[in-house]
Amino acid sequence: MSLSLIAKSIKPSPTLKLNEKFAILKEKGDPVIHLGGGEPKSKVPMDAILATVAHLNTGEVRYAPADGIPALKQAIIRYTEEFYDRKVNPENVIASGGAKQAIMVALQAILNPQEEVIFPAPYWVSYPDMARLVGAIGVAAYAEDGTFYPRLKDIEDRVGSYTKAVIINSPNNPSGAMYSEEFISDVVQFCEKKDLYLIMDDIYHRLIFDGRKSINCYKYAKKLDENSKLIVINGVSKQYAMTGFRIGWAVANKKLIEAMANIQGHQTSGPSVLLQKAAVGAINGIQSGVESLRTTLENNRNVMIDMLRSFDGVRVTKPDGTFYCFADFSVYEKSSNKLSEYLIEKVQVLTVPGAEFGMEGYLRLSYCGSIKDVTEGIERMKWALDPNSPNELYIGDRKLVRDWS
Ligand code: PMP
Repeated sequence: MSLSLIAKSIKPSPTLKLNEKFAILKEKGDPVIHLGGGEPKSKVPMDAILATVAHLNTGEVRYAPADGIPALKQAIIRYTEEFYDRKVNPENVIASGGAKQAIMVALQAILNPQEEVIFPAPYWVSYPDMARLVGAIGVAAYAEDGTFYPRLKDIEDRVGSYTKAVIINSPNNPSGAMYSEEFISDVVQFCEKKDLYLIMDDIYHRLIFDGRKSINCYKYAKKLDENSKLIVINGVSKQYAMTGFRIGWAVANKKLIEAMANIQGHQTSGPSVLLQKAAVGAINGIQSGVESLRTTLENNRNVMIDMLRSFDGVRVTKPDGTFYCFADFSVYEKSSNKLSEYLIEKVQVLTVPGAEFGMEGYLRLSYCGSIKDVTEGIERMKWALDPNSPNELYIGDRKLVRDWS
């Protein structure tokens, strides 16, 4: 079959593939544990549900402006003021089908074929493929000291004549690392100086631990006018546990937002008005669910980290936020794909191979499920990997006996 060069270059999303695998195994009745997921298990906020139902009850669900309904834009403006201390106008805002589409249309609006976008490694799985979708090239910047915390120099070293943009995701998927204020300030000013677009993917900015305060990139910008190339991305998926609603947004200069709206208008005519109403409900509604999710995640993180530290030779960096931990398992197996497959086969625990995030030998483990999933999942992994663990393991009433070493 003849497919386009771009289509041929795109891999399926490994995390979405894993969700499908989980559903299939679960359907078969297998006692599978999903430590590869990327969505909170808490309920959608009641305000979001009520807003959706109220609109549905009108019996009129129509086309809406391609860049978002005025009520959602107002909610995003208020959100930007509250969390970023910045006043923007409706022309500075676009609502999209998830933060994913907001990033995608931003890349379509700014990148030419062959141009480059830099992001620190480990990176969110979708960034390289999103760059490929516009014929551009994603360039991973690894921290020279081998940590999850890059310095400006690590980014600077990758900048060349084709560089057009930088993406920063903090706290980071998959590492959970929240970059320092100094780093964010350096990157903001560096991008201004070099006239590069800077996409701040802040999708996890309210899910941070240990009393940390979210970092506001605007604070460090010297030129905050309609020529600013700073793009801030957010969404309802993670903070409000509304992954299925597919609403995210971007805040940027008016010209760029207009270009993004033109692209989005031809692609999808914008997100569904019903789901935009839900997002308005969530953003303007009672916020206690976000804090309760945050504390649950922090507790789950603590439990997971304590358990992982008992594995001989596994290197763990305590996540500062998100719901992921990125641990180095290379002492057991160098190929993260092989290790991930092995864990499914032996103990039915789903994890995401580190190679997908640009770091071989690591696994991404999520603690967004129940505490039981976290403890049982890590216990099973320990049994499968650590030769010092007892020979037998019970999964429900099934007894497994280790027949390998
Ligand atoms: N950015 C990052 C870093 C993410 O982890 C995700 C979701 N996994 C997204 C963006 C996209 O989120 P949404 O559901 O809003 O499209």
